[in-house]
This record gives sequence, structure tokens and C-alpha cells, in this order.
Amino acid sequence: MLNVLVSGGSRGIGRALVELLAEQGYRVHFLYRCRDDAAAEVVETVRGRGGDARAHRCDVTDAGAVDAFLAGVAGEEIYALVNNAATLRDGHFLLMDSDRWNVVVDTVLTAAYRLTKGCLRSMLHAGRGRVVNVGSLSGQVGQAGQANYAAAKGGLHAFTKALAREVGRYGVTVNAVVPGWIETDLVATLSEDHRARAIASVPLGRFGKPHEVARVVSFLLSDAASYITGATVRVDGGVGS
Ligand code: NDP
Repeated sequence: MLNVLVSGGSRGIGRALVELLAEQGYRVHFLYRCRDDAAAEVVETVRGRGGDARAHRCDVTDAGAVDAFLAGVAGEEIYALVNNAATLRDGHFLLMDSDRWNVVVDTVLTAAYRLTKGCLRSMLHAGRGRVVNVGSLSGQVGQAGQANYAAAKGGLHAFTKALAREVGRYGVTVNAVVPGWIETDLVATLSEDHRARAIASVPLGRFGKPHEVARVVSFLLSDAASYITGATVRVDGGVGS
């Protein structure tokens, strides 16, 4: 059974991904920050369907916690890593204090550095592996009020391309998936007005569902994607086209 690690697997896109990958026969380890009830519900759902999902409470901004998690799975080959965890602290740049900046950069970018470093050795040793980074349009074209998030996601996109060039010859692929507006807690806070304007901007005329992103990540982990690396795949209903 191949092991996959998903950061931020207790809700939203990560949850859909954990459920899909477990259904496809992977053993899925996932990390979450604090919502024990949500994580337990994911594990229960997966087990109820005969799958294997293992929840680990691990704040990816905490280097010690990440190291402890990685030590715990050190004996297992991690076939694939999906860097999905993220958080938002939007605001005008001049009012953005260093806490707001750091928590977003740490959750999105530095955590990807730590987790990838922790998993890559076993991938290189095995001569195979997949890394998928969940990016954002904000990291490609920018978004007012999201200087922290855009910078972190933009860094994640550049990290994807650089690492793909570095590890491709060892059988490891590294790709990015860029969701558009997806119905998760992350967008649930939008006002009705903002929501209506957002939907109007999407060529497909609706927000996406978490499983529509999960299916693309799962494709990138599959044999069908064996010759794809350094790619950025948009799953955005056409909004970024
Ligand atoms: P959600 O807010 O719904 O879920 C976030 C997940 O990440 C939760 O499982 C949460 O755990 C976990 N998480 C957050 N911070 C940490 C941390 N410090 N340590 C460990 N786990 C953490 O997010 P989405 O599903 O909406 O987003 C998933 C990805 O997709 C993100 O990378 C996001 O940037 C990207 N994206 C999403 C879009 C959208 O429209 N939804 C649009 C563009 C990109 P817990 O439950 O414990 O808080």
C-alpha cells in the first residue's frame, strides 16, 4: 500500500483529497492544526468505507511538531506529499504587521519546505515520488489585500518549478495545482455581494467543489501523470484564463 501525506486534510479540499485517495487504495496520513472533531470525522468516514486514513495533529508552522511527526513515519516510504495547508490573514499592506505576514508565509511556504525536505529523502531512495503543491491564482496574478498570501503562494509556485528541475532525474515529479473559487470554509466568509461578484467572474458560472480539485491532484499522483513535472494545473472554472 502506497503512503501519501496530505497537509491540512481535516477540511475543505484536503478532506476531499484524503477521502478520494483512501478510496483509491492509498494509506493516507494527514496533518491538521486544531480541529480534532473534524479530523476524527474524516478518519471515521474513510474507515467506514474500508479505507486507511491516519490523522496527526501537527501545526505545520511548528518546526518541532513537524520534526516529531516526520520521525514517527521515518520507517515508511512516503510515495507522495501534498502541500495543501494554508491560512489567510488579509489586510491592507501598510496595516499588515509581521505576525500576519509570518503566519501565512510559515503555513504556506516554510511548511512546504520542511515537509518536502522530510519526505524527499525516502522518495529519492525509492527512485520514485510525487510532490503536489496547492497554489493559488493570488500567487500568480496577485490580489489586493493579500500581499502575504500572494507572496507565499508565488514562492510556492517558484519552489515547484525549481524542485522539479532538481529531482526529476531521480524519478520524482513536482507539480502545482491552482484552485479557483472552491466552496470551502476559506470562502464561506464572503459577503453575499462579494460572492455574487466572484461567481459572475467565473466562466463556468459557479464555484468549484473540493472533489473537483482532489480529482486533479489524484491524477498527478497516478501513473497517467508519469511524464508531467514542473507543471501548474489550474482547476478554476476558467477564471484565471
Ligand atoms: P480550509 O480553510 O477549508 O482548510 C484548511 C486546512 O488546513 C484545514 O485542514 C486546517 O486544519 C489546515 N491547516 C491550516 N493551518 C494549518 C497549520 N498551521 N498546520 C496544520 N494544518 C493547518 O482550506 P481550503 O480547503 O479552502 O484550501 C486548501 C488549499 O487550497 C489551500 O492551500 C488554499 O490556499 C488553496 N486554495 C483554496 C481556494 C478556495 O477557494 N477554497 C482558492 C485558492 C487556493 P484545522 O481544521 O485543524 O484548522
